[in-house]
Amino acid sequence: MTNFINSLSFATDMDSNDPLAGFRDRFYFPQMNGKDVVYFTGNSLGLQPKTTQDLVLKELEDWATWGVEGHFHARNPWFSYQDILTEQIASILGAKPEEVVSMNSLTTNLHLLMVSFYRPTKSRYKILCEYDLFPSDLYALQSQASFHGFNPDDALIALEAREGEYALRTDDILQAIEQNKDSLCTLMLGAVNYYTGQFFDIDRITKAAHAAGATVGYNLAHAAGNVPLKLHDWDVDFACFCSYKYLNASPGGVSGIFVHEKFAHDKTIPRFAGWWGNDPETRFKMPRTFVPAVGARSWQLSNAPVLSMAALKASLDIFEEAGMQRLHDKSTRLTGFLEAIINEINEKKLTSAKLKPIKIITPQNPAERGCQLSLVMEEKGKQVYQKLMEAGIIIDWREPDVIRVAPVPLYNTFTDVYRFGKLLQELV
Ligand SMILES: *Cc1c(COP(=O)(O)O)cnc(C)c1O
Repeated sequence: MTNFINSLSFATDMDSNDPLAGFRDRFYFPQMNGKDVVYFTGNSLGLQPKTTQDLVLKELEDWATWGVEGHFHARNPWFSYQDILTEQIASILGAKPEEVVSMNSLTTNLHLLMVSFYRPTKSRYKILCEYDLFPSDLYALQSQASFHGFNPDDALIALEAREGEYALRTDDILQAIEQNKDSLCTLMLGAVNYYTGQFFDIDRITKAAHAAGATVGYNLAHAAGNVPLKLHDWDVDFACFCSYKYLNASPGGVSGIFVHEKFAHDKTIPRFAGWWGNDPETRFKMPRTFVPAVGARSWQLSNAPVLSMAALKASLDIFEEAGMQRLHDKSTRLTGFLEAIINEINEKKLTSAKLKPIKIITPQNPAERGCQLSLVMEEKGKQVYQKLMEAGIIIDWREPDVIRVAPVPLYNTFTDVYRFGKLLQELV
């Protein structure tokens, strides 16, 4: 455990001893009054790597040079462009390369995976999810249940935290699985909840849901590139992620999926098929019968959106160089520093004017969270948020009273966190 001291000299010391400090210079920062903003919203849209333009430009050049022949003659042939990403994605997700592929957008992928892995019967049709899940996920799950003829209010088991609590207790999740073991068809959770920042115990939850006879999937929108994952070893059945949050791959950037190796050769899984999911050996022979490629690739529908994938590649190269383990080590310290500062502000508030504390609703245990802390601001929340934004500290606001702060280890510093704390203290 690091002992954190809420001072500028402590923060600058931490920065000068940070082996990843140089990565900050690889990104463009929005400017305010001629200075870089303090950017704490990498959980919404990651910053642009300076190399993104080069990689996208390279594909534009090859398109200009080759036209259609770029499918085979571009420097990275477009025919197989998706394949140059799988190893790097796999290492971020704790997967094997054949278990992942990048394609489509996130909600599209969630639907495609539910088509294959949510196969309800009259008696086993329920979907277990979080109560405070992201709206797009909620609509996707509701419409999947309706699509199969079920009433979503009945089919969805939406788990709420206990009275007065925000995070879900693993034991409560396991109990809900046990209670619904005869009707549970699929468990679908955000691996890291977008609102509370809670990182679930995927290993235990997955085992329990499998024992109950359910399929198990996760939405990794807030987990990919944020927390260390071992999807293969945890025996997760399926997952989808987006690339524009922690993975810095451009607004609306191409998403991706994980499907466990155990399904790699299973041609009987029902799926909505497209030509790009066909075995690449015969894809251009245009067979009349779909022959699924091996692994996650068989879920692809369309030819690769190369410009978007080039942007993803730029970021994945940076992740490979930095390494998920080193990023996670720094992330733990950076978020720990933020937490310590907020706790100190609370102590001062309480002893001085008996004001309500800023409530950190993200779990305290570093193993149960990523970089984001979610703060319930019972007093002056919106005002504090606006003042921070005006001062060039970019954070986000969720109605009615939550500020989410995400110090990202790739490009945030301990000094960023110190500056945030100093201003927050003044404002409350
Ligand atoms: C960001 C996010 C989305 C957004 O979905 P898109 O299809 O990319 O627009 C969906 N679900 C979760 C959990 C998210 O965090």
